[in-house]
Amino acid sequence: MVDSEDLLICVACGTQFDIPADKPPKGCRICDDPRQFIPPGGQTWTSLSKMRAGNYQNKFKPVGESNGEESMTSIWTEPKFGIGQRAIFVAGTHLEWAKVFECPVFVAKDDEEWLNRADADGRRILFAAASEEVEEGVTAVKTGGHSPGGFFVTTPSALYHIDRLPGTTSYAFMWAVPNMIPLPPAELHKMWQAIKPFEFESTHGAFVGQEVRAKEVKGRVLESMKIQTKDMGWEEHAVLKESWP
Ligand SMILES: [Zn+2]
Repeated sequence: MVDSEDLLICVACGTQFDIPADKPPKGCRICDDPRQFIPPGGQTWTSLSKMRAGNYQNKFKPVGESNGEESMTSIWTEPKFGIGQRAIFVAGTHLEWAKVFECPVFVAKDDEEWLNRADADGRRILFAAASEEVEEGVTAVKTGGHSPGGFFVTTPSALYHIDRLPGTTSYAFMWAVPNMIPLPPAELHKMWQAIKPFEFESTHGAFVGQEVRAKEVKGRVLESMKIQTKDMGWEEHAVLKESWP
């Protein structure tokens, strides 16, 4: 069996496959999906060992300090790799990190078809419920959105007050982030209904620095969903009738 250091990684999206790096396939099934893209120069491949030999480094930083977010660590790669996504380490990220931190990885069952590596160490936990407490005080809530198994994690949260004017947007809800294809109102409404029963006062995006902390952050999520819905040309939709608090 090939060591995970020498497994194939797609440079465009950062996905690691159960395929030796020196035997790349024709294409990457993640990049071939309409949510991703193939770079103008064509598909290129690497591996963890090649990246380590180059100038790539992983950076670690606590998401917050003295605000209840110390249990969350932001991990990203420099220079920018894949689409520049970061991982937030709470209860787990992907299999390589799970091995480093000796922790489980939670993945929604709906996204099983997108997994590209077999779970040799038995670290992956597939969950099918609408929400599941993954560890004490940490709940994963399935919202759908970018993928059917998209989920949202609540942790004991922080409290900051940053003013944001009413009528301005704080979030964009995307089906495809790199291709900038937004999610339709029906999907936004489903996401809102999934998170509605939960209270939270901070959100943390897929990229470094995307922390939003405010008492009314949940209201901002809804307001941003409404702005996106209206800007896509909908004058009436169930999501526009939702209210918070
Ligand atoms: Zn790819």
